[in-house]
Amino acid sequence: MINIAIDGPSGAGKSTISKIVAAKLGITYLDTGAMYRAVALYAVNAGKDPSSSEDVVPLLADIEISYKKSGEDNIICLNGIDVSQDIRRHEMSKYASEVSKIPQVRMFLVEMQRNIARNSDVVLDGRDISSFVLPDAKYKFYLTASAEERAARRCRELADKGQIVPYERILQDILDRDYNDMHRDFAPLVKTDDAIEIDSSSMTLEQVVDAVLSHIERIDEGNGTGQ
Ligand code: C5P
Repeated sequence: MINIAIDGPSGAGKSTISKIVAAKLGITYLDTGAMYRAVALYAVNAGKDPSSSEDVVPLLADIEISYKKSGEDNIICLNGIDVSQDIRRHEMSKYASEVSKIPQVRMFLVEMQRNIARNSDVVLDGRDISSFVLPDAKYKFYLTASAEERAARRCRELADKGQIVPYERILQDILDRDYNDMHRDFAPLVKTDDAIEIDSSSMTLEQVVDAVLSHIERIDEGNGTGQ
């Protein structure tokens, strides 16, 4: 199976890049962040505290997450209901980061992710794909960009969707999420030594996609250095 891991901090463009790379290679795209967001949404809708393992862990037995392809996009369903829009609400980013610290939540979702990767050719984007979910993946990327650039991009994205959130608040949220993701005890965000790092701060989307695809070709030709 072809498994391509794309990790990196929030807002580095992982999902956009992963979606395009998957489409160009004709394989599946799996947004693992959406899974954490779906768990967070379920917890919040149930009136629970997303940062409390006592609150969240008992809910896992009632959660079923599935994906459907719809044109270019994936639809994510939570217990059969399309939550693709709801999980993108700005506050869900913070709640997802909170549930993602709970080891039982991670193992619940990691099992699903490993199963999908075992059975299909897939690009997975996340934080711990190279380090924990699929440490043996042949293709590993670490996509990053400066926090300021990531905040500016997120600001524009939200504005395009009609959500006006001040830049300073988005930047602070990004810094907080980076800290949470990099400092949690279990499966934190790290760049593994064998992942190829791409800093997209001053690159266009096309340049990043080309870089990923050409590294994949090099690895296939046996010349990938892993650096
Ligand atoms: O990628 P996205 O921003 O949608 O992810 C939401 C949150 O889920 C992240 O801030 C991170 O805390 C968590 N996450 C994770 N591991 C992954 C994917 C996402 O911890 N593989």
